Amino acid sequence: MSKQYDVIVIGAGPGGMTAGLYASRANLSVLMLDRGIYGGQMNNTAAIENYPGFSSILGPELGQKMYDGATQFGAEYAYGNVVDVRLEGQSKIVVTDEGEYTAKAVIIATGAEHRKLGIPGEEEYGGRGVSYCAVCDGAFFKNRDVAVIGGGDSAVEEGLYLTGLAAKVTVLHRRDQLRAQKIIQQRAFANDKMDFVWNAGVEAIEGDGSKVTGVRYKDKVTGETQVLPVSGVFIYVGITPLTKGFEHLGVLDEAGWIPTDENMATRVPGIFAIGDVRAKHLRQITTAVGEGGQAGQSVFDYIQSLQDETLKTGAVPSAN
Ligand code: FAD
Ligand code: NAP
Repeated sequence: MSKQYDVIVIGAGPGGMTAGLYASRANLSVLMLDRGIYGGQMNNTAAIENYPGFSSILGPELGQKMYDGATQFGAEYAYGNVVDVRLEGQSKIVVTDEGEYTAKAVIIATGAEHRKLGIPGEEEYGGRGVSYCAVCDGAFFKNRDVAVIGGGDSAVEEGLYLTGLAAKVTVLHRRDQLRAQKIIQQRAFANDKMDFVWNAGVEAIEGDGSKVTGVRYKDKVTGETQVLPVSGVFIYVGITPLTKGFEHLGVLDEAGWIPTDENMATRVPGIFAIGDVRAKHLRQITTAVGEGGQAGQSVFDYIQSLQDETLKTGAVPSAN
């Protein structure tokens, strides 16, 4: 028989770890499962400057601090790639590649992952010049020219990080205006090592068979095709929700995000969702953390309501 918990948190990014902290501090038994390294997307972030209490902190360092905080009240952490959640009465069976766990409630905190461009050369040169993580791969391009594709916070902020390593960083954006926050834009425009190519429709990543040699793009205004010679291409064109395995629960919207109410409850009783995977506008560490705190409390209230129901009806609780 699988081990039983009050709540299983799927994903140990900032949202999931905060939920783990709140639920375990409320004396619930908690298991946090993650298929990667705890910390989530923060592990791919160089400097975080908008998390209160720190003027600047490295992403993995903040992840470690959150993990220490989350586990101090007894929340357990285990590796697990969750592939399914089954509903059996009020019980939730969380299925991983390696086994099953049972809980009264589940918090989905699986976050999001980078989107791909789907252009020629992207797959072929993956790991040979094409990257989605400046912190992981930037050092391979010391004193070389690199391109960044995208115009959001990730593209511009990670591009700025790359200026500390590369000879020159050229941002290719599909419009003539960035989407990134103004403060990040100002820094980018003031940085001598950063260039911009506006209205660039990127068509292909070119290489010599073993490594990247350039980016081919069409100027959307003039219609001219150009090749920008670079050794590395960093792609930051948005994110997509990680909700594979949850489709059958009926909690996803058409685009795959999970809508919730203000208590982080989905339409299935006992299933909550927080952080980047939620249908929402502002995807940040602070918002994930806030939602994690709320979900920890909501799970406590939910389990309390199951117990109240049991007392009223005298029935044996079916959730555990
Ligand atoms: P995530 O951090 O995405 O964590 C989700 C976790 O779930 C991951 O560890 C993943 O391995 C796990 N998981 C996914 N699927 C499964 C599964 N099936 N089974 C088990 N585990 C699973 N925000 C800021 O506030 N400030 C910044 O400076 C900042 N910089 C950023 C820089 C970059 C390059 C990127 C990509 C994002 C940045 N963000 C920043 C956004 C911020 O990182 C996210 O909003 C935040 O991490 C979301 O937290 P989360 O807990 O919802 O999910
Ligand atoms: P994003 O905000 O969705 O921006 C994606 C960028 O890629 C946009 O500029 C978009 O262009 C462009 N793009 C999308 N599809 C494209 C395509 N097919 N071809 C070319 N360009 C394309 O994604 P993000 O920058 O990865 O950020 C994700 C979330 O994390 C956001 O909520 C962001 O605020 C957050 N984040 C925060 C920080 C921070 O607070 N410091 C840092 C990083 C990320 P358009 O502008 O034309 O749409």
